[in-house]
Formats: sequence, C-alpha cells, structure tokens
Amino acid sequence: MPPLNGYIDLRSDTVTHPTPAMREAMMHAEVGDDVFGDDPTVRRLEFLAAEWMGKEAAVFVPTGTMGNLAAFLAHCGRGHEVILGDQSHSYLLEAGGMAALGGIHPRPIPNQPDGTLRLEDIEAAIRNSADEHQPITRLVCLENTHNRCGGAALTVEYTHAVGVIAKRHGLRFHIDGARIFNAAVALGVPARELAAPADSITFCLSKGLCAPAGSLLCGDAAFIRLARRARKMLGGGMRQSGILAAAGIVALNTMVDRLKNDHAAAVAFANGLRSLPGLILEPDTPQTNMVYFNGAESVHLDAPAIAARLKERGVLVDVKGARRFRAVLHYWITPTDIDAVLGVLADILVRA
Ligand SMILES: *Cc1c(COP(=O)(O)O)cnc(C)c1O
Repeated sequence: MPPLNGYIDLRSDTVTHPTPAMREAMMHAEVGDDVFGDDPTVRRLEFLAAEWMGKEAAVFVPTGTMGNLAAFLAHCGRGHEVILGDQSHSYLLEAGGMAALGGIHPRPIPNQPDGTLRLEDIEAAIRNSADEHQPITRLVCLENTHNRCGGAALTVEYTHAVGVIAKRHGLRFHIDGARIFNAAVALGVPARELAAPADSITFCLSKGLCAPAGSLLCGDAAFIRLARRARKMLGGGMRQSGILAAAGIVALNTMVDRLKNDHAAAVAFANGLRSLPGLILEPDTPQTNMVYFNGAESVHLDAPAIAARLKERGVLVDVKGARRFRAVLHYWITPTDIDAVLGVLADILVRA
C-alpha cells in the first residue's frame, strides 16, 4: 500500500484514507436530501448502526464531537450535571461544548489507569437533588476504548456495574464509544453487549474503520428525535450525505473484524520498542491499536526533538508530553512499515 501523503503516519487512526472499496461505493451512492429524510443511503447506515449497537435508532452526524454534544443536549437541560472522567475526550478535547453551548456542568472524576471510573467515585459524585444549592446530576459518561488511558477496553461487566448505579439513581448513561469496535474486538464480545447498559452511544466511522468522515449516535427512538433536533441546531444537518454514508456502510460491513490486525500490529510494535534502549512503554502492553511510550531520562532528546527527527525520516508520531509519544496502528500501516519505524527510531536513539 502507498504511504499516506508520503509518510508512515502513526499520529492517529483518524489519518486513514478511505479504502478503494469505499471510494467505489461513494461514487455510486444513491442520495437524497437527508434533512428531509430522503437519503436512502444515510437511512441504511443509520439502520445498520442501530442494529450493531442493539438500539432502536441512530442518527448520522459529521463528527464524534457533534455526536457526543447532541447526546448531552438531548439528555440534559441547562444547569444539569454530567459525571465523566477527568481524562475523557468529552471533558478535555471537545472545546467545552456542553458548557459553552448547552449550559451543562461537567463533573470530572478521576479516570483510573485502566480507563474506568471507580464505582464509589461515581456514587459519591451524585448530587443531593433536594439541595437547591447544587446542580442536578443527570448523566454519567464512559469512554470505550479510553484514548488517554492507553486505548484501554472497558469490559461488559464493568459497564453493567455503571449502568446499575445510573438506574438506581435515575440517571441517564452515555458511552463515548468513538472506538467501541476496537473494544469489542479486543474483548471478543459483540459491540452491542458493551452498549447494552447505556441509554446512548456514539461511535466513529472515521478512525480505525477508515471512512473519510462521520459518526453515529444511537439510542431509543424518542432520544434520537431529540438528538436530530440538536444536530440541526448545531449545523450538522447535511444534505446528500449518502456520499459519506456509503463509505460508512462499507466500514461497518467490512472493516470491523480486521481491527484485530491493528491490535496485533500494536503488540508487535510495542515488542520492538521494548527491545530499544531508552524507551519505556506505558502501559506496558497495548490492549487495542494504541501504543503509548516515553523516552527515558537517559535519552538526551525530548519528545518534540525525536518526533522532528522521525519526521525527517518519513515517520509521524503524536507527541503527548515532554517525553511522551503515542503511535496508533491502522489499516494503512504494513509490517514492513513497522520494521522501518523501529529501525529509524533505533538509529535516532543511538545518536541521541
Ligand atoms: C476522536 C474522538 C472523539 C471525537 O471524534 P471527532 O470525530 O474527531 O470529533 C470523541 N471521543 C474520543 C474518545 C475520540 O477518540
């Protein structure tokens, strides 16, 4: 396969270009005006997505960020509070949308290294609804896989335990499942089992599944009606979006099972990194498609300097801290690419 724009690009799985089959499907997609509900390809994608997640309905949105925000707006009103992880994408990387646009108060609690929230921390964060001083707790959110926690997969058992707490307290439960299929494949369970305890789930087509754009928000029919209104309000009502949905259908039909290849490639890459002096894997073993690693103190170059030298040699990685890197394995990375990256890194480290 040709490298992406001339680079071996490990910055993210979002850099994946659409596959030849997707370009073909997009070319021939049957379309209509989706805001009128007329686009048969979007409708087919939404139906498929709902089926994959075991929910009544789904709505196609341009991005995962909009999917999560539409969910927050559909579940919550102004002054409501959302309990979520302090390392979660929704808290850190969605421009504060729930607060800025929804008047919704985020209540971050610590993410554990495995991506979970401690059940006792969730319980302790739930407000006393009789106390007029406090915001009203409305929603609990999990992220699966957990990006900043090393691409960790949250289990069915854990997700159920959170669902039980939400039910007991009359709260809604949303999953940011941007990479829910990576979790499902890693755990060997159907994605719908991971989604079952939640009222709603967002997942991305545009990451490891290689579609050029698009995410889906899934839930019951009444919730999805509200989410469609939120999508329109946010400017996400697209027109002949069947062009994009066509790629999404190919993604769901053909790209899910192969994620296991990316997970195996991540393990192979991690094993290679482990054999290089001066690099520390953290977490030690990747669970899904992400490899996080740090340069040791003994290395005289910081992460930006190493990344710059990698770039000169045709390799892109994501810098996550002064000494921290993230590499994400995906469809467009071959075993030969992995060997090449390890060779270049070894070379840079020897000189560092
Ligand atoms: C990428 C991502 C999103 C947002 O998706 P976009 O399509 O980039 O807006 C949300 N949550 C997580 C965990 C992500 O990794």
